Amino acid sequence: MADDVHEVVIVGAGFAGICAAIRLKDAGIEDFVLLERADDVGGTWRDNRYPGVAVDIPSVTYQFSFEQKSDWRWVFARGAEVKDYVDDVVNRYGIRDHVRFRAEVIDAEFDEDAHRWRVTTADGRTRSARFLISAHGVFSQAKYPDIEGVKNFAGKTIHTLHWDHDHDLTGERVAVIGTGATSVQLVPEIAKQVERLDVYQRTPIWVVPRPDVRVPPAVRRLFGALPPARWAARAAVSAGIEIAMLAGVTNHTRLPFLVKGIRRLAERHLERQVPDPELRRRLRPQYEFGCKRPALSNDYWRSFTRDNVDLVTEKIQRVLPHGIETVDGQVREIDTLILATGFKFLEYDSVPGYPLRGEGGVDLRDWWVDNRYQAYEGISVTGFPNLFLIPAPHFATSWSWLVMVESQTRHAQRVISHARRSGATYAGVRPDAQRRFYREMDTGHEKTLFLNPSCAGSNTYYLDRDGRPSIVRPQSSVTARWRANRFPLDDYELRAG
Ligand code: NAP
Repeated sequence: MADDVHEVVIVGAGFAGICAAIRLKDAGIEDFVLLERADDVGGTWRDNRYPGVAVDIPSVTYQFSFEQKSDWRWVFARGAEVKDYVDDVVNRYGIRDHVRFRAEVIDAEFDEDAHRWRVTTADGRTRSARFLISAHGVFSQAKYPDIEGVKNFAGKTIHTLHWDHDHDLTGERVAVIGTGATSVQLVPEIAKQVERLDVYQRTPIWVVPRPDVRVPPAVRRLFGALPPARWAARAAVSAGIEIAMLAGVTNHTRLPFLVKGIRRLAERHLERQVPDPELRRRLRPQYEFGCKRPALSNDYWRSFTRDNVDLVTEKIQRVLPHGIETVDGQVREIDTLILATGFKFLEYDSVPGYPLRGEGGVDLRDWWVDNRYQAYEGISVTGFPNLFLIPAPHFATSWSWLVMVESQTRHAQRVISHARRSGATYAGVRPDAQRRFYREMDTGHEKTLFLNPSCAGSNTYYLDRDGRPSIVRPQSSVTARWRANRFPLDDYELRAG
């Protein structure tokens, strides 16, 4: 017997879970709960509070289309402002009462007789739900590097996902391991504060300038008084990013010169920021722009010209109790070790980070090992009925996470409403529909940049264990939205229990 019975359980109260909840309310469904492992909403923006955290697409596109804020303070909103936006949305749409905090899901199993999911949380409670929306997000589990001795470091260790604001870095000797998008935001901020900063780079990152300014009060007033003005700004920015991504990355084989053009922009940025040719050589990626996720910054590369900052490109041999030893035998002593080593992503026990057992007791993680990463329309998997995964393989179109989330939650809402209207208790995606979609995705991947030989050495997380860019949906977000509204509902088999 479950402790609670609901029509829908949503896992996670980040942007995806919140959007799913709003969709359910739109559809007249109020019997749902969001299970959230933390004690606040906001996902990424609750957890990532490292110095310098900010969005890296313009704020006008990093918001829901149906809830547009007129008074963003920066063109690229800082993390705290995005968190305020999340809180506003949650309050405005009456979502907070549906959230169960400190409820970490550790297991979910489909009951084939009852056509219900049984969801267990770490406190031992179980909940039964007709439908399960697992809005586990992309970057929610910290990845700790597999480096000898890292657990034995005697000073302070901080992973960027769990920043410790009580720890003052002023005057300290600090090492940062990792040079991804997080490190690009963090390094210039802490470089000003610490005595010494060693940045350990395994794979360099492409960086382009961030066209960031405070939004002038007059523009904010205009956006508030005249909604079409902010809609137009959003449409223009969205179209620009979408076209660049579609042309340069998704259809790379047809239009390779676009990526080369952006790479030249990044190269000029590097030349302007770093006069020393040897340092430039070490910072310059050898793989093509876009193979690995690039970053935006006006001061990351310049940080390495500071007297107190060192770029370390020798491989790390081991972490010692008081420092880091590289393979050349050099030991650099430090007080604090910062791990900017990213997130577990498309690893066996991540995304989602708990077992989901569908028909026949099959664990979704094993199903993906046996059948490669795949999901119908980037959200459903055959053999796992009444379940929607946000994200799942083939979810990523091109830019704003919120745009993708709106499409995916719309898909889930359509299926759930259709099943309810039909009196069905079971909605499972048909194997032939999933196979058709997988073939379409796999063919589309051949045109993308990620399979190009120029990506060799990028160590990109866009490629899965089979070497396929399975997270990518090689289509525009407009197509994804259109399909979310129009995919044939017959692609799901309905049954009444
Ligand atoms: P990431 O891109 O995965 O970068 C992790 C870094 O750690 C890489 O440089 C990686 O090197 C290095 N690393 C990992 N394990 C290592 C090891 N054992 N030894 C040495 N180096 C190691 O993680 P991230 O920077 O946190 O960014 C993750 C994603 O979060 C981004 O791609 C982006 O999508 C998102 N993000 C968004 C924003 C924003 O929108 N504002 C900001 C930050 C992050 P390799 O490259 O060699 O693997």
